[in-house]
Amino acid sequence: MIMLSETIILQSAGSLSVAALALLMMILQALFFFRRPQSTWYVWGAAISFSALVYALGIFLEYNTPRGPLNRFSGLLEWTAVILLVHTLYGFTFSFLGIKSRRYHPTAGVFHGITLILLWSTDYIVADTFVTRSFMGLRTPYVEPALGPLGPLFILYVAAASVNAMIVWIRHRGPEPAHWIVYLIGIAVWIVLGIHDGLAAIGLPTFQYFMEYGFLGFAVSILWVTFSSYLEVSAQEKYRVISQFANDCILVIQDRKIIYGNAACSDLTGRPVTDSGVIGLLNIMGTETRRDVLQYYKALLEDRPVAKTLTLWIRAADDKEKFVEIASNRIQYGNRPAVLSVIRDMTERKRAEEILRESEEKYRSMMEAMGDAVYICSPDFRIQYMNPSMIQMVGRDATGELCHKALFDKDEPCPWCLFVQFQPGDISETEIIDPKDNRSYHVTHSPIFHQDNSISHMFILKDTTLTKQLQNQLLRSERLSATGQLAATIAHEINSPLQGIASLLNSIERTQNLDDRLSEQLNLIKRAFTSIRDTVKKLLDLSRPGKEVKQSINVNKVIEDTVGLLNSHLRKHQVRVQLNLDSTIPNIQASPQQLSHVFMNLISNAVEAMTGNGTSENYMNTENRHNGTITIDTDVQNDILITKVVDTGPGISEADMEYLFDPFYTRKKELGMGIGLSLCHSIIHDHHGTITAKNATEGGAVFTITLPIE
Ligand code: ADP
Repeated sequence: MIMLSETIILQSAGSLSVAALALLMMILQALFFFRRPQSTWYVWGAAISFSALVYALGIFLEYNTPRGPLNRFSGLLEWTAVILLVHTLYGFTFSFLGIKSRRYHPTAGVFHGITLILLWSTDYIVADTFVTRSFMGLRTPYVEPALGPLGPLFILYVAAASVNAMIVWIRHRGPEPAHWIVYLIGIAVWIVLGIHDGLAAIGLPTFQYFMEYGFLGFAVSILWVTFSSYLEVSAQEKYRVISQFANDCILVIQDRKIIYGNAACSDLTGRPVTDSGVIGLLNIMGTETRRDVLQYYKALLEDRPVAKTLTLWIRAADDKEKFVEIASNRIQYGNRPAVLSVIRDMTERKRAEEILRESEEKYRSMMEAMGDAVYICSPDFRIQYMNPSMIQMVGRDATGELCHKALFDKDEPCPWCLFVQFQPGDISETEIIDPKDNRSYHVTHSPIFHQDNSISHMFILKDTTLTKQLQNQLLRSERLSATGQLAATIAHEINSPLQGIASLLNSIERTQNLDDRLSEQLNLIKRAFTSIRDTVKKLLDLSRPGKEVKQSINVNKVIEDTVGLLNSHLRKHQVRVQLNLDSTIPNIQASPQQLSHVFMNLISNAVEAMTGNGTSENYMNTENRHNGTITIDTDVQNDILITKVVDTGPGISEADMEYLFDPFYTRKKELGMGIGLSLCHSIIHDHHGTITAKNATEGGAVFTITLPIE
């Protein structure tokens, strides 16, 4: 029995084991293919295993047969397996790497078919003669069919095809480095062993043939690659199942195509997305956005750093504008780089945000424009917001600072911020006076409730100083007119009996036989009577100053005339009058006599104040006494004529200020009746103007008269 001779038994066992393993791998790859018919590379993988099986069987037969047809048949089997391997090698490479080659299969198919026909029907590739090889370490010579004339060419072709397949893999790589490295190792083992066996075939001293192990190694590496891709695809499938239920649109983009899109994508875009070109997806975006999105995907695929998310407006099939956020990542999908995008419909949120922003904007601009000062104190007692009026009031922007510290210089939060039992809608109102400048404010405090139950506080401070002043003025003028009226009524009552007394006095005076004593007493009565009558006249004037005729006059002239009249009086008291009159002031409608009366009163009051008569005790000390200067200026502002009478006297005490214009209010020890200023008020009021008094900062009283020009 020649078969299984002792020296080649090892070799036979080796090739049989290779055949068995190759069969197993073929079955495995076939199983993969039945599970996933869309992945054609499993068929190619099975075909590679099949070629390994055929080769191993050929070797086994060759080892164990003598010269003769069976031995030649084994040689033909081996070469058939080699052709099959070359063909399937490219089939696997193209399908696994996703390379589309329309020319390969027809061209290579025809070429390999012709080669097979040549192989089996002629002696060109495998000759009909036999050679005996003596391998190193093997005693028994090894018989095999000799190569035909085309044999070496054929070997060269196989070598070149293998090297080229390697180059294709190196060029295209595929996504997973592990895959192509394993593949390259497989093909390299095959090539190295092929060279070894080729050297043996041309008769150089070598070891026994190893080619079947090359086949096996290659088939194993293919199995590894397909198996790991099988696992990967299984994972992908699971992920497809999960993503199908996701509310966000989940897309996989590869080779400019959307190769996967879940149901939410169709809902979002209003059209089916899978297998439409990316262009289809881009069409729903504006031109500007399109470029950004393309660049974004390109950068992702090239593994360049990109923004994590993109937000943009898209137009869905139903023409609805939607605002979406795209978050993407580079992934391996079907063994190749792809982009996984999660597109979230943010339209509702965006709209809500916009509405919120608009209303915030509205409130903010309202607050900015508000004359009232507004500030908001956060739950941790920090100033969250101050409007411009508040900033102006405080003198700086204290946003972020502790409110009690910044506004009230206190170390503890204010009690009104600590009050916890607020109810929504609670609003409290208080009046405060700022000790710094004596301005009064109406404060409205309303709590703002947050979702976490914490409370911010909004305060609106309305400056009520002016309103208060106006109210006071109104009260005062009511009081003035009431007392004035009373005085006038009394004067009127006194006036009628006075008329009687006057005529009686006249008739007594006309009596011839009055003795000297009586005549002297009568003179005294007449003097007292005249004084009473003057006073009564003044009192009557209080209530009806308007009986004088108004005419177009120049106030400057009235002032100059009045000062001229008082010249000797002023000289006597060593008081200087300085006139700063604006020569451009227009004429006004007024009574010159009455205005002259006003200025006369103001000037004589000033003279008296500066010479020490008529001021309150506090203001009476001698240090404050001046024989000073009275300054009178006129000026026009906003159609109002302003006249100021300023003296360098002791000024007016706070207590007097309030009652200055009241009838009968006087501080003068002698001769004071308290009618002067009251009459001035009455006259100016009758001219639709105002008269006010204050103290100048440098001392002295300032009386300001405003008169409308129209
Ligand atoms: P009378 O002059 O009769 O006192 P007025 O009504 O003219 O009455 O003045 C009221 C009071 O106002 C005066 O008693 C005086 O105390 C105060 N007064 C008026 N003018 C001045 C002034 N220029 N400086 C200081 N006090 C003044």
